[in-house]
Amino acid sequence: MYDTDSDELQAARAQLVSYSARLLDDGLAVGSAGNMSVRLGDVVAITPSGIGYADMRPSDVCLITLTGTELPDGTGPGAQETPSSETPMHLAIYAATGAQAIVHSHSPEVIALSASRDELPAIHYAITGLGGPVRVAPYVRFGSAGLAAAATRALDGRRAVILRHHGAVTYGRDLAQAYDRAVLLEWLARTYRLALSYGEPAILSAEALEEVAAETRRRRYGDRRGRTGTT
Ligand SMILES: [Zn+2]
Repeated sequence: MYDTDSDELQAARAQLVSYSARLLDDGLAVGSAGNMSVRLGDVVAITPSGIGYADMRPSDVCLITLTGTELPDGTGPGAQETPSSETPMHLAIYAATGAQAIVHSHSPEVIALSASRDELPAIHYAITGLGGPVRVAPYVRFGSAGLAAAATRALDGRRAVILRHHGAVTYGRDLAQAYDRAVLLEWLARTYRLALSYGEPAILSAEALEEVAAETRRRRYGDRRGRTGTT
């Protein structure tokens, strides 16, 4: 079912450690807060609970099935680490979406916004990359099935969700894309806060966002045709 020595899995472990360090460097979390995972077929590689990012090694990354069964990590004798406390949320999102990687941040701009808003509105057209205005899921305790359900519900049609008084979750086709979306989400929240300092800002209409999404699709299609030489 899985091979703990596979190159793919080793690469995912190394990538999770390196992106975890970036989470700190980019100010998207502090200490050991936040977590991330990558799906490899029926197996999910997920960062461990309670290990500071500065100390995390690839062999600390945990392996679980899509139903939450912990798997031997294949790194030899010694105590295995405990998977992230938000494992239920990661698994619920894999079950409900096409996610191949998930990033959960504790980034300050989205947390500040979540205390007083129900949604991050379209202050910039780049929000179409997240599927549109980003919902704020109601507060539920960390690590709970309730939080997993609330996050998954608020993700409907979106690739990002803000968790009230907690942080944010983004997903993508790989870890690089999920991470880029976490950075984009934080930047959008900061830009919205700056806009609020001038008064109540104008927000892009649904029609304007749909036009951007259509143009993005058109250009992607154009790129593909160009690369494959099928024009
Ligand atoms: Zn968290």
